[in-house]
Amino acid sequence: MMKEIDLEIFSPVHEVRHPLLDEKGIYLYLKRDDLIHPVISGNKWRKLKYLLKKAREEKRSHLVTFGGAYSNHLIATAAAAAQFGFKATGIVRGEEVMNDHIFLCRLYGMELIFVDRESYRKKAALFAHYFGDDADALFIDEGGASPEGALGCAEIVDELMDNYHHIFCACGTGTTAAGIINGINNNYLETEFHAVPVFKNGGFMANEIDKYVLKPSVYQLHTDYHFGGYAKATRELISFIKQFVMATGILIEPVYTGKMLHAIFDLAAKNYFQPGNKILAVHTGGLLGLLGMADKF
Ligand SMILES: *Cc1c(COP(=O)(O)O)cnc(C)c1O
Repeated sequence: MMKEIDLEIFSPVHEVRHPLLDEKGIYLYLKRDDLIHPVISGNKWRKLKYLLKKAREEKRSHLVTFGGAYSNHLIATAAAAAQFGFKATGIVRGEEVMNDHIFLCRLYGMELIFVDRESYRKKAALFAHYFGDDADALFIDEGGASPEGALGCAEIVDELMDNYHHIFCACGTGTTAAGIINGINNNYLETEFHAVPVFKNGGFMANEIDKYVLKPSVYQLHTDYHFGGYAKATRELISFIKQFVMATGILIEPVYTGKMLHAIFDLAAKNYFQPGNKILAVHTGGLLGLLGMADKF
């Protein structure tokens, strides 16, 4: 079954109203990539678009990729494989577990191979070991990190109907951020880009972003909003998320979008923005993870 790779993207821009924004005279909009798919992170869909096209062009019918047991990218790959008629294998870090992510990967038909953390680090060796003689297999890096991934994410900017002074995005691999920077450059915009790494000591994220940025670019890296590190959350972050969801009716989660929006509100409170500034935050999704985190709230 060879369905054409035609990922439908539905991602409107919605204004967020909040007393702090009114007080500071600034305007916040969300690019609703969370609406692209009910369980898959929107930016994962975008990152896969050109990887799937590449797989088709190279006549590879088997997608092989990598992730942790809570990886949004693994589910996205599993879902895309099912939709477009690819076989999919996920190589998962750590010992075998069962959770919503793993359940959905299997439901979409992905084969899973659990490997210890030491072996997981050597992804090329793992791929060679399991699929070295499978000419149909395409290696897709963890998180969909790739030039093709950045190409898909540049379309976030192509879709915008309005101009913004600032665009914000949460960073894991930095591929989405790089794509947005390329999109800003492609469209000759003056917009300032802001990356919010979700890891502790996120300064290294600049190197990751720069791998996929097509021309040297100036952007801001806000490394103080990790709240303890990857997938960690503090009381402060959780109470911000509760308050944001109640005030806006838009769901956000603690791993990515909660940290990015907390950064925007904290910077706003510190008068970082000029009155009249229009800020676009990319809601990259990730809501499946939220449902597994009720104990943090
Ligand atoms: C994966 C993910 C990100 C990070 O995207 P990168 O391109 O890896 O930086 C941000 N938000 C959500 C919800 C994600 O699932």
